[in-house]
Amino acid sequence: MNNQPGYCPITRTKGKKVGGATVKSMLSVSLRTVQDKQYYFCREANCDVVYFSEDGDQLFYTHDIRERVYQKEPHNPDVLICYCFHHSLGAIQQELESTGKTSAVDDINVGIQSGQCACDWRNPQGDCCLGNVHRLIKQLSTNHD
Ligand SMILES: [Zn+2]
Repeated sequence: MNNQPGYCPITRTKGKKVGGATVKSMLSVSLRTVQDKQYYFCREANCDVVYFSEDGDQLFYTHDIRERVYQKEPHNPDVLICYCFHHSLGAIQQELESTGKTSAVDDINVGIQSGQCACDWRNPQGDCCLGNVHRLIKQLSTNHD
């Protein structure tokens, strides 16, 4: 395969390394297909691939995943952005519109401090959602005058 290791074979963009636990907990297909390889997450919205193996030989698509993936549907209000404490894009947007702020970040931080998060099993990207949440809030606040 003519594939640069760690780059999505479809979009040719650099993927984000994910652990085996994330791939296994996210797949809706038989885990017999999971190999002892490094997998990567493709964050491009216009690409249907969620995970790919380092060599690019194996691809898992959005329909192979148990969750709706925020990065693949960044404008869908129903899709979760925080998978551990169930904050959706729409809920955050609504709160911002009606109150000018959102309690999502505080709620997530309290959850993290209480050891209640499980990002590597819950979030398709395999780690904490806070970066995405901060980016979203900034985006929504600047789009909005
Ligand atoms: Zn891709």
